[in-house]
Amino acid sequence: MDKFSVLKETFGYTTFREGQKELVDAILSGRDVLGIMPTGAGKSLCFQIPALLLSGITIVVSPLISLMKDQVASLNAAGVHAAFINSSLSESQCRKALEFAREGRYKIIYVAPERLMTETFLSLAGAVEISMVAVDEAHCISQWGQDFRPSYLKIVDFVDALPIRPVLSAFTATATRAVKEDIQCILGLEQPLVTVTGYDRKNLYFSVEKPKDKKQELLKYLMGNKGKSGIIYCNTRKTVEELHGELVESGYPVTRYHAGLSDLERKQNQEDFIYDRSPIMVATNAFGMGIDKSNVRYVLHYNMPKDVESYYQEAGRAGRDGEPAECILYYAAKDVKINEFLIQQQENPEMEREELELLRERNYERLRKMTFYCFTNECLRDYILRYFGEYGGNYCGNCKNCLTEFQDVDVTEEASVLLELVRSSRERYGIQAITDAAHGTVNDKVRRFGLDQNSGFGKLKERTVVRIRQILNDLLVKDYLSLTPGDYPVLKLTDRGRRFLALSREPDESSSAMAGRNAAGQNEIVMTEQNVAGRSAAEQDGNDTEEYRIVLKLPKEREKEPRKDKPEKRKETAEVKYPQLFELLRQKRYQMAQEAHVPPYIIFSDKTLREMSTYLPQTEKEMLSINGVGTRKYEQYGEEFADVIREFMRDK
Ligand code: ADP
Ligand code: MG
Repeated sequence: MDKFSVLKETFGYTTFREGQKELVDAILSGRDVLGIMPTGAGKSLCFQIPALLLSGITIVVSPLISLMKDQVASLNAAGVHAAFINSSLSESQCRKALEFAREGRYKIIYVAPERLMTETFLSLAGAVEISMVAVDEAHCISQWGQDFRPSYLKIVDFVDALPIRPVLSAFTATATRAVKEDIQCILGLEQPLVTVTGYDRKNLYFSVEKPKDKKQELLKYLMGNKGKSGIIYCNTRKTVEELHGELVESGYPVTRYHAGLSDLERKQNQEDFIYDRSPIMVATNAFGMGIDKSNVRYVLHYNMPKDVESYYQEAGRAGRDGEPAECILYYAAKDVKINEFLIQQQENPEMEREELELLRERNYERLRKMTFYCFTNECLRDYILRYFGEYGGNYCGNCKNCLTEFQDVDVTEEASVLLELVRSSRERYGIQAITDAAHGTVNDKVRRFGLDQNSGFGKLKERTVVRIRQILNDLLVKDYLSLTPGDYPVLKLTDRGRRFLALSREPDESSSAMAGRNAAGQNEIVMTEQNVAGRSAAEQDGNDTEEYRIVLKLPKEREKEPRKDKPEKRKETAEVKYPQLFELLRQKRYQMAQEAHVPPYIIFSDKTLREMSTYLPQTEKEMLSINGVGTRKYEQYGEEFADVIREFMRDK
C-alpha cells in the first residue's frame, strides 16, 4: 500500500488537496510537521493516511468528545479500526478499548489530553509501538489562541515519557504568528515541515445584507433554501430562543443551541442537527467547535459578530465538502452597539488595568474592521483574505459585491459639507446628530447642541437621510472620519479628513491641484478603497492630490426593484443532472444512516451523491470512479445506492 492507494481505496478520493501530499510525505519520512490549513481543507487525512502506513499505532490528541466521535465514526465507516478514549466511556468500555489497543486491533486511537498521563494510558503506551502522536486543533496549546486548554500541555510530558520518541504532527486553522510559534516551541517540534495553505475557500459565497426586517428576510431566505442544512448564528440567547420559536411555528425542521441549555439538551440538539433530523440550527457562537458536518449549505449570521476572526471561523463551517455554500451576514447598526457593550463589560481579574485597557482597545479595533466588512463595496473575499495577510486579487466573482453592478457617484461636495460640519461643531457629536443637522432636521438634540445655528445646517436637505448615512459610513471606512469608542460614539476628523478639508478650503491650492489634474486628463486618480484592512502604499505616502475627490460606489438603481433571491450570475448550488435522483439517494442515505446510527454525511457526502446523480454509476467499477467511494464504502453501501440508480433509470 502507498499513500495514493490509501487515499483512493480507504477514503475514495483520487487527488490530494493543497498541502496534503507534502505533509503526508514528511511524516512518512519521519519528520515532524505543522500543518496550518483553514477549516474544511482536509487536515484529518494528513495524519490519518500516514497512520495507516506507519508500522505502529498513531495517537491522536483532540480537544472535544464530539470531534473524536465524529472522526472515529468516519474512519470506521471507511473500514479503518479506530477508537477513542475519553470521559464519555464507562470504566469497562475504557478498559476494553485499552485491551483491544494492546492487542493491536486499532491503528488509530483518539484520546482526550487529560487522559494521556493517567496510569492506564501510560502503561498502554509503554506496551505498544507508537509511531506518531498527532495533535489536532493544536492552537489549544497556546495562551494566545482563543481556545487555550491547559491540559494540552500534558502532551509534552506524555511524549517525554515514551521510550522512543515518535513523529509529532500538529494541525490547526489558526494562523497568527504567536500561536504558530507557541505550537512549535511548546510541543518541541524538531525542524518541522511547516505548511501553510491559503485561507481562501473558493466554494463559499459571501454576502452582506442590511434588511429592514431581518426576520422577514430570513423567512424568505429559508423558503428559497428548503431541504438544505444550515446554521443561523445569533449574538444572544434571547434571539436564539425567539427565532427558534418562530421557525418552529413556521414548520421548519429546526433545533437550537446556546450555553443556557442543559448539557443533555445541548447534546441532543447537536445530534439532531448532525444526523439531519433537524437540519437547521439556530445558535449562539457557543455552537460549532468540533462540528465536522460536511453538508452545511449556508451559515447565516443574524447579527454581526465581534471580529473577522470569529466571522470567518463560523462562516467556514459551511461547505466543508467543497460544494458551493453560502455565508450571509445580516447587518444592523444595533449589532455594533451590542458588541461595543460586550467589549466594555470585559473583565479579567488576572489582568492589570492597563493590560485590560489595551485588550479593549484591540477589540474595538477588531470590531471596527468587522464593521467595515459590512460596508465595503469591494470584493468581500478579498477583504477577508487581506485581513489575514493574504492577497486575494480584487475580484473573486463569487461574492455579493463582485456580482452587484455598482456605479461611481461623486460625493465630494456632500462629503465636504459633512466634514466641515464635524469640524465646525468641534468634533463633539455623533452620526445621528450630524446627519440630522446636514439634512436640516430640527429636533431636540439638534437644537440643544446649537447645530441649527451652524452654517452647514440643512445644506444637504435635498439628499435623503439614507444617502447621508451612506456617505458618512464611507468616510469612516475610508478613514476621513473616526468614531470614538464607548456608549456615545463621537465623530472625529482623522489626519486624512483634515487634509481633505484644508485642500477644499484653500481655493488657490485646491484649484491648482484641480488644474494639474485636469491637465492629466482622464488619468485622475480616484480613491476607491482597495483596502481598508491594510492600507495601500499610495495612501500611506499621503499623496494629497489623490484625496480631492470622494467617490462613493453605490449599487445601480435597478437593485431597488423587488430583489430576486440571488444575484443572477452567481454559481448555482446543485449542479446535478438528475435532481429527483439526488433526492432519492438522499432518502436512501438518511434511512441507512438511521439504521447504522451514524450521521448521513459519514456514509456519503452530498458531493458524492451529486456525482452519482449526474454520472449514474451502476457497476462496481463505475461506482469506484465516483469521488468519495472507496473500496470499503463500496462494499458496505455501494450496491444499495446502485439499486436506487437502476430503479430510477428503469422508471425513466
Ligand atoms: P479540517 O480538519 O481541515 O477542517 P477535515 O479533515 O474535516 O477538514 O476535511 C473536510 C472534508 O474534506 C471532509 O469531508 C473530507 O473527507 C474532505 N476531504 C479531505 N481531503 C480530501 C481530498 N483529498 N479530496 C476530497 N475531499 C477531501
Ligand atoms: Mg479538523
